[in-house]
Amino acid sequence: MDAIFNLLMDLHRDGDRQGPGGSAETELAMRLAGLTERSNLQIADIGCGTGASSLVLARALNAHITAVDLFTEFLEELQARAVELDLGDKITTLTASMDDLPFVDNSYDVIWSEGAIYNMGFEKGAQYFRRFLKPGGVLAVSELTWLTAERPPTLTAHWNAEYPEVDTASAKMGVLEKHGFSLLGYFPLASHCWLENYYLPLQARHAAFLQRHAGDDLAWKVVTDDQKEIDLYEVNQAYVSYGFYIARKVGN
Ligand code: SAH
Repeated sequence: MDAIFNLLMDLHRDGDRQGPGGSAETELAMRLAGLTERSNLQIADIGCGTGASSLVLARALNAHITAVDLFTEFLEELQARAVELDLGDKITTLTASMDDLPFVDNSYDVIWSEGAIYNMGFEKGAQYFRRFLKPGGVLAVSELTWLTAERPPTLTAHWNAEYPEVDTASAKMGVLEKHGFSLLGYFPLASHCWLENYYLPLQARHAAFLQRHAGDDLAWKVVTDDQKEIDLYEVNQAYVSYGFYIARKVGN
């Protein structure tokens, strides 16, 4: 595995989550998706990390969750946490890449993915995941989103370079509509989802991480890049967040 992947895994595996989000926000998306009254749901959580959303879904719903990630190490953490919470029999983990899923077409009621679809791109991901949904099935994804039409140029330049697909909510909704989805709901993540829930715990792990990788320039770069991203977010939180998009598959 690449050195950078090893480092990122080492930094993130102890985290409760690997991206911005929150349990209350996962629950809100669940309600907007109309899942709380249903039973025997088949759900795939794509890019699940150590299970922030999988565990909330498993606890709240009458469902079986297939929790998918590229990194087995994250899935091992998830599994341990699931057992601790007595949710082990509701979650199956699967090491796979999100762009090459060993799923049967039309087999899931719900495809969930928080802070991860960017790894294959929002449009490509929405198109690809759609085939695995039963007719009427629900896609629930969070994705980097501009909150305003105009923004500070340094912010726009940073995220355009990091993730060229970043766009406004209306544009993202248009992408979903173009590819056979009907919107059920949208909300932007509030700043505590970034700061309290993600960046602060991440920052708190930086010192020990640098100690474990003393003298490693790449580890130093990981930490300084994180810090730059955090600083940028703190001054620009009015302009950018993750949007949570909940949409129903229309047609077959
Ligand atoms: N959903 C989790 C993790 C988000 S971070 C949360 O909200 O906390 C993004 C996750 O996507 C990481 O766990 C990373 O390992 C995973 N990932 C990255 N590339 C992937 C790929 N090609 N296929 C599957 N998972 C991938």
